[in-house]
Amino acid sequence: APKMEEAAPEKDNLASVDHILLVLSGKGGVGKSTITSELALALRNAGKKVGILDIDLCGPSIPRMLNTLNSAVHQCDAGWVPVYVDKEKTISVMSIGFLLETQDEAVIWRGPKKTALIKQFISDVAWGELDYLIVDTPPGTSDEHISVVESLRRYKPDGAVLVTTPQAVSIGDVRRELTFCKKTGLPVLGIIENMSGFVCPNCSECTNVFSTGGGEALAQESGVPFLGRVPLDPQLTRSLEEGRDFIQAFPESATFDAIS
Ligand code: ADP
Repeated sequence: APKMEEAAPEKDNLASVDHILLVLSGKGGVGKSTITSELALALRNAGKKVGILDIDLCGPSIPRMLNTLNSAVHQCDAGWVPVYVDKEKTISVMSIGFLLETQDEAVIWRGPKKTALIKQFISDVAWGELDYLIVDTPPGTSDEHISVVESLRRYKPDGAVLVTTPQAVSIGDVRRELTFCKKTGLPVLGIIENMSGFVCPNCSECTNVFSTGGGEALAQESGVPFLGRVPLDPQLTRSLEEGRDFIQAFPESATFDAIS
């Protein structure tokens, strides 16, 4: 009798990833990608291997932020090889930004095309062994969020980190994110209040430009952990590009211990 052919084992590129975190925000510009990058650097400094998956298909800012804008993604047998941020290969990044010919290309994509790409990102990136995979999502709750949560479900993500600014409008948007997490069964790891106060470059004193404490109040009210504040700091963007972990300069501003 002819030998039965064995089914090819399904490729599983996330099999060696220990923790999966998603970073969410109610709207754009609150610092979601900045916090994602900071988290990655903080975890790297704690000796962890970290991958960043940027699924903000219409505004992929991770490559620019981590100074890898002109990097190219290569293929290997297991799939796409992510871009490494550092020589030691402790932070790897996959972003639509590496695949587009022009930065504006994805803006007009419809839902099904985005969903297909997200599925491919989940299955086809050869991350290797990772302690953490951090997923940077688009603002709000869109098709992309539903796709990524569904595709990741079988890997049981640790949960979501919600980023907000202190202003009420942004905080109203975070409420919707909390509802999204509840409805999709995604645990909420906590809320980070970004741009909370301004650090004067001359005297290092922190001034509250906007009101402060909204994120903390919301966390309390919703019964989710408050992970900390990150002040507005003019040097932050530059330090990120240079791969310096900025949070370390503000040990009181963010408690990532809750996550790591
Ligand atoms: P999002 O991902 O939510 O759209 P980004 O992380 O791209 O937001 O941040 C928007 C802009 O604000 C970027 O130019 C970023 O460098 C800047 N930014 C974010 N957080 C801070 C901060 N704490 N201090 C100074 N600039 C910040």
